[in-house]
Amino acid sequence: MKLTDISYIKNQMEAHGVNFKKKFGQNFLTNPRVVERIAENAAEGVLEIGPGLGVLTAELCRNAKKVVAVEIDETIIPLLKENTAGFDNLKIINTDVLKLDIKKLIDEEFEGCESVSVCANLPYYITTPVIMALAESEAGFESITVMIQKEVVTRLCARPGNGEYGAITASLSYYGKCEKLFDVSAGNFIPKPKVDSAVMRIELYSEPPVDTDRKMLMKVIRGAFSQRRKTLVNSLGSEFSHLNKAELTDIITEAGFAPDIRGEKLSLEDFAKIADIISRS
Ligand code: SAM
Repeated sequence: MKLTDISYIKNQMEAHGVNFKKKFGQNFLTNPRVVERIAENAAEGVLEIGPGLGVLTAELCRNAKKVVAVEIDETIIPLLKENTAGFDNLKIINTDVLKLDIKKLIDEEFEGCESVSVCANLPYYITTPVIMALAESEAGFESITVMIQKEVVTRLCARPGNGEYGAITASLSYYGKCEKLFDVSAGNFIPKPKVDSAVMRIELYSEPPVDTDRKMLMKVIRGAFSQRRKTLVNSLGSEFSHLNKAELTDIITEAGFAPDIRGEKLSLEDFAKIADIISRS
């Protein structure tokens, strides 16, 4: 794979007078096997975020019917175009993914594709906002496969009761099932990042796993984790100031939990029970 060759990358960037941009989290993959294993998760249509020089993009174009790649750095676009010139199933969009209307983009670009997935080596600085925006987008993605910081994968895939389990874990579990696929050490990138990475896949649900008002559910989750060291009764007060401690204790007991339970012990279904009771009260 030419695009994983470090001298090719350096020479092409030098020839175009382009530098690695730390502010955009630019760490380019140099291991062809990792590229292939991420691209195995391509659906018929693929949204790639941060194509960079196009190493993953090219492999996705080989595997998918259509690829749309969104890249923020305009200086790298000519190099990306040069490296992917042989593919007629690629559309490059030069913008900030966080400013995109994702559902509109998917509806417009992937008409005629039976399934659409996201595959990306994400920039570290926007990992969780991007994953949440994709999950919440209602764009109908089949799956989201991303390479991100290893510790964040551990957090997103944690189970209730695990110290890593938090508000983001519980919120994401409303949208899909998270699974860690494999680790990728820092030596597989140029420039070499300070942290190790891992690839995770989120299999998105076609129907929510709990039949609860989503806004209320997210409010309960936010409240439950607002003060990690406190019991659920005390931390929920931050989001539900109209309910006093005795009322919150009654709600938690009615849901079937001990009054001194902590939020980190509860699953999505447990949070849903509490949300339903609060909605009715
Ligand atoms: N896909 C390439 C690879 O695997 O070698 C590059 C991955 S690099 C970790 C992240 C890429 O995301 C960079 O090309 C960077 O410019 C781009 N990027 C950073 N912030 C972005 C944003 N807000 N929207 C779109 N692309 C962004």
